[in-house]
Amino acid sequence: MAILYAKWRKQPQPPGFREGSSAPPEQLLQAIWQHQRIRRSDLRATDGRWVTILHPGFLNLEAGPDFRQAIVQMGNTKPFECDVEVDVLSAGWRQHGHNTNPAFGSVGLHVVWQAGASGPSDLPVVELKNQLDAPLGQLADALGQATTLPPKNVHGRCSAPLRDLPAGGVADLLGQAAKVRLEAKAAALAAIADRATWEQALWEGLFTALGYKQNSWPMRRLAELLPGLRRGLGQVPEPIVLLARLLGVGGLLPGQLDRDKLTNRYLRTLWDQWWRDRDRLAKRILPKSVWTFHGLRPANRPERRLALAAHWLAKRDFIAWLDDWICQPPKNPSPVVALLGHLAVSDDYWSRHWTFRSGRFAAAQPLLGSGRLHDIAVNVILPWLHARATADGNAGLVARVEQRYFAWPKGQDNSRLKFVRQRLFGGRRIPLRGAALQQGLLQVQADFCNHTNALCDDCVFPDLVRRYSLEKT
Ligand code: SF4
Repeated sequence: MAILYAKWRKQPQPPGFREGSSAPPEQLLQAIWQHQRIRRSDLRATDGRWVTILHPGFLNLEAGPDFRQAIVQMGNTKPFECDVEVDVLSAGWRQHGHNTNPAFGSVGLHVVWQAGASGPSDLPVVELKNQLDAPLGQLADALGQATTLPPKNVHGRCSAPLRDLPAGGVADLLGQAAKVRLEAKAAALAAIADRATWEQALWEGLFTALGYKQNSWPMRRLAELLPGLRRGLGQVPEPIVLLARLLGVGGLLPGQLDRDKLTNRYLRTLWDQWWRDRDRLAKRILPKSVWTFHGLRPANRPERRLALAAHWLAKRDFIAWLDDWICQPPKNPSPVVALLGHLAVSDDYWSRHWTFRSGRFAAAQPLLGSGRLHDIAVNVILPWLHARATADGNAGLVARVEQRYFAWPKGQDNSRLKFVRQRLFGGRRIPLRGAALQQGLLQVQADFCNHTNALCDDCVFPDLVRRYSLEKT
């Protein structure tokens, strides 16, 4: 089904990378760094030290270093905050004048495709060349390359040919793009499973999604530490024991017990657990600065997300249930309702508190809204099941996962979807039935819009749509 769209993605694109190019463009390297498509668990600097990336930093679209406020740990030393500069070659440091530019004084890590002479003499260097988590050509396909986004009121050049498509054409194209997206997400999870286990890949995907935009990196880091965090626990650990370790290693356990009676009692229970583990895990504790609280809705606080994760981890059959769910779909309730029910959790404390400081509210609030649970199903659980079925060569199961993916109901609309819709359809109402078509829309943006500018210069998508339209009529 996705054959045509998959071919379209191979069309020559304006600034993209294709296998066989001498070196990847810096923009692709930035995307690789931003999405951390590297072997995170055994990343090394050129001086041989282990490098742990607790946060890759925020992509800087202004002048100055490429990423701001990354959190990096070298070996077992204390994590530090710094900016990160990405260059194709070490020599870029001097060629671009970073060595004399005070704006680059806060750079603490130089990330290059290939290390060599003329780089900064006093900075650790990470060479990406042999430390990617997938072949470079695959990453170039999977990652849209960041460009300046166009203004809101400009329709894309493809909006006219898309308007002229025969009935069903839009849904067919977006469906093909959606399948490509499902496979790309599955490949990213398979890359984690390759270096760890399928279970670990699922937890990393789930934790990252629970962190949402603001805290995906510290959440992912906690997931990476899970094998150590779960050590010594029985088959069915209490959620509170897991949560104490997650909050302790996350640096999120407050020290003082000066809250209300209920919270003081709860905190004491957490500390009673954490005292036993703290020394063993001390070197893994994240600095609090790695978390983003600014602009975060109280309902999305990481403490609540970790409480939810602790309940999932404590469920003995959490993963086995997913296998049954895909292999023997429940009839009543529907598969969607059944999965959302499996993921929904109530917690004595966190269902009625936003933070350790907030008062207790009368009516229980979900630990995660249904919109986010839908996102997790489409972006993590179904891709994970797809990846595993593909790795097992189980074509029947792959087809079943795809069927579930395409039947999944539409997720909440958001500003990104609205924006892409406006670019592609010029404000026309497009019935996007199902979450998969929304995913397809985002894939077109990654594959085509992100390769060009606001004027759609050199974008091949409009011509491809026109040709497709002629073939269909
Ligand atoms: S860049 Fe291409 S796909 Fe994106 S809006 Fe413009 S013509 Fe359409």
